[in-house]
Formats: sequence, C-alpha cells, structure tokens
Amino acid sequence: MVYLFLSDNALENDTRNIINVFYPLAHIKVIRCQGQYTSLKSLLDTGEFAIHVQHKKLKPDAVQITTRLCDNRRVWTEGETVYGLPEGYIKDKAFKYGLKRCVLKLLTRYTGYRPPWGILTGIRPVKLVNQMRAQGVSAAEIWQYLTDELMLSNSKGSLLMEVSDIQQDVLASIARDGVNIYIGIPFCTSRCIYCSFVSQVMGTRNSNLEEYLNCLLEEIRCTGRMLGHAGIRPLNIYIGGGTPTSLDINQLRELLDCIRQSFSFEGVEEYNIEAGRPDTIDKDKLTLLYGYGINRLCINPQTFNEKTLKLIGRKHTARDIIDKYYIARKIGFKNINMDIIVGLPGEDDTMVANTLGFLDDLKPDSVTVHALAIKKGSHLKEKAVKSRNTLRHNYICNTAMVYDSLRKMDMIPYYLYRQKYMHGNEENIGFCRKGKEGLYNITTMEDSHSIIALGAGAISKAVLNNNRIERISNPKDTGVYVNRIHQVIDNKREMLEMLTLKNQ
Ligand code: SF4
Repeated sequence: MVYLFLSDNALENDTRNIINVFYPLAHIKVIRCQGQYTSLKSLLDTGEFAIHVQHKKLKPDAVQITTRLCDNRRVWTEGETVYGLPEGYIKDKAFKYGLKRCVLKLLTRYTGYRPPWGILTGIRPVKLVNQMRAQGVSAAEIWQYLTDELMLSNSKGSLLMEVSDIQQDVLASIARDGVNIYIGIPFCTSRCIYCSFVSQVMGTRNSNLEEYLNCLLEEIRCTGRMLGHAGIRPLNIYIGGGTPTSLDINQLRELLDCIRQSFSFEGVEEYNIEAGRPDTIDKDKLTLLYGYGINRLCINPQTFNEKTLKLIGRKHTARDIIDKYYIARKIGFKNINMDIIVGLPGEDDTMVANTLGFLDDLKPDSVTVHALAIKKGSHLKEKAVKSRNTLRHNYICNTAMVYDSLRKMDMIPYYLYRQKYMHGNEENIGFCRKGKEGLYNITTMEDSHSIIALGAGAISKAVLNNNRIERISNPKDTGVYVNRIHQVIDNKREMLEMLTLKNQ
C-alpha cells in the first residue's frame, strides 16, 4: 500500500503517474490533508510507505514544492522552486512538471532505480520531438528539454532524436492528402495471457463471427462509397485484430474482395495484414493474400522459445513460424514484419538472445519489439493482482542488447510508442531495413493522416486544421457493434463530412 497525502485534488494525477512508473500495480490510497507534514513511520508496515506533497507560494510568481517519503525506517525529502508561474499555478505545465520531477527524484532515491523515460509518461514521445522541430526549436534546445526538464536518460534522448531524424525523411516522401484505413477482425484462435484486447476466441459459445462479418462488410461498402463521393483516397490500408487470418479462406476472400471493390487502390502505398499466429496461415491463404495485393505481412512469433509459447497461450511451435515464413517468402512477399515481446514470464536474456538468433537467420524486413505490458483485462494482470505483486518492474531483460542485435542485422529504429504498465518502463519500438519503414505505423503514431477505422472497437481519428483531432469510436463489443451498425455508419458519415470541410 502507498499512502498519498495531498492538499489538493489537482495534484493527484501527476503524482500517481510517477508512482506508477516505479510501482505499476501499486494500490494507492489518497488522503486529503492540510497543513504540516507528520511522520507516519511508526504506523507503516514493512513495504508500505507514505508520500506527502506540499506547495507554498514564495513570491508572486515562484512556488516551493516539497515532497517527503517515509517508510517504517526513515524519511526522505526532495524539493524544487518553480519560477515564472501564473496566479492559478496549480494547473500550469511548469508547476506540474516541477511536481513530477520532485516525486521522481524522491522515488529514485528510495528505490535506487532511475526510470529511463524520466517524467515523460505520454505515449507519443517522438511526436513531441517532431512538433518541436516543426516549430523551429534547435536540436540542442530539444536535447536540453528532454534531458533536463523531462529527465530522460541520455540513451532514451538519443533514441528519440534518431527516430525523429529517420521519420523526417519518410514523412516528407508521403503524400499529404489521403487517409489511413483500419479494418478490425477482433477474433483469435486462443487467448494470449497478456491480451487485453476485446478479441473473442473463435468457435466459443458467444462467438458471433458470421453476423459480425456481414456488418463489417456493410461498413466497408458504405465507407468506400462515402470516400469516393468525397474524393478522399486511401493511402495505407491495415487489416488488424485480433488475428484476421483466423478467418477461413472463404471468409478471407469475401473480405479482401469487398475491400478491393469498395476502395480506390490508385494511391495505396501499403496494404498490410496481421497474420499474427502462424497456425492461422497456410500456402492457400498466403497465396490469396498475395493475389489481392497485400504488400506487408506480419507474422508474429513473440518468442521462439517453445516453453514460453505454451505458457503464454499460443497454439503453435517455433517450427510453425519458420515454415510459414519461408512459404510466404516463396510466394513472393517482400515485406515481412515480425513482432517479439521482451519481458515475457520466465524469459531471461539468454532466452531473448535465442529469439534474436532465429530472427538473424530468417532476416525479416522489420521487427517490432514490444515490452510486455500488464494491462487491465488480461489473465496476466489478474494473476499479478491475486499474488499482490505491487513491486516495481522486474528488470530481467536488457533491451540495449536487443536493440544492438537488431542494428547488427542492418536495421534502424523508425517508430516508437509507449504504454502504461510496460515491462522495465521501456517502449515499443519498430526496427526495419532502410526503405521498409511501416508507413501506417508512422503516420498513425505521428497523427500526420486521418484514420478511418472500421469494425468493433476501432477508433477513427480525423486530423483537422491546426492539428485538431476528433475521435469517433465504434462499440467495442461485437454484439453491440452488430446491433448498432446503422448508427456506426452514420457516425462515419459525420466524420467524413468534417474531413471534406477541412479539404475545402
Ligand atoms: S493474438 Fe493478439 S489479439 Fe489475439 S489473443 Fe493474442 S494478443 Fe490478443
């Protein structure tokens, strides 16, 4: 248990965010308090601690922030004076950053662990750098901001700058008009223990795959017509999930045919499908995908260690991955991505190195490295909560070793994002051979293009003038999606009207 003593509600989110960087599953009890700090040493059990946050105006524009942590042994203190604040400073960015830095320093001293991303908890750190560059901020100033203000480690600062550099060239080469299309198939053949998506296991009692597909095809046809009338063309198309290749070959053909008939393919650069699990693809399905123009294929091993594959709920072997990969190459796929996860239960550096060895032999065009995140709704989270595991991250995997290996395979880091509750407080990052950057990944993560997202749980984003973003979400539950399909299509119409107005 972590006790958090606050004088003001507005301090809670920022303080919590930083505590979660160290203790992702911590149970935090917030206690409102006014006035002076009181040590609670004698009341706390071993492993528990309390944090007090206080702030006091020193001058009209300067505020002293003081944070204290006590456990049942001793007390630690960290403070900072923040200058240049307005009258109602509590919601001011400079004050909030000052508060976060104090809590971060306090917990760094207490745990002996320095989080590599400092106080940066947002999911799109590269976008931040790209925006600063677009505003004309120099590289030296950006570096100072990242390492001093946000307290990033030098290695994360360099990584961000490098990814941003690589993206500048790619973004400059992509047509500015056009939209990304996302099509979701939230069905899988079994459930991975870390999965927090709404995906259903196929063939179970509640599975409504047929009805779902009928509605999805309807949404695709209507959206295609509306895009055609508005003169908006697709730039990248991404079929994701779930595992879209869990569909049988006839269903898959019907889906691909509908997409082909509904959208203009004239300007489409990247046509991607997640064939995540090798047990859902065979020569016939791969030939079908290739024939319909899919030009980027994701075959996701996650790990090549048999024991782990079983443990995480995958129903395939490492051999299946290798066999399907070579079949895909033989058919002609020239752009294959593989996802791996670091921080999987029971995996140490040697096991991760084993996975990297397989990747080195197979030579995929890109590798996306995910740091395991223990998310709400996953079996892993239930287990962790049951075992009352509120300890900070388990630092068994050396991501520097993973990135070095990928660089030795002639790959460069081209996109990056973060999530809450990630293993080792790391990041998800895409590496690729030059020229094989995932365009959908970059453009959606950087919000450079709108996304028209179809299917249950899909979230559309209209990127409007002045970087304003409007989101429209489809219902997550496939049953609700089926029941509300007309409303879903009406919402899409509204979104396309917004985009049409923007283009006028
Ligand atoms: S393949 Fe992906 S969507 Fe399907 S269960 Fe595993 S993590 Fe979830």
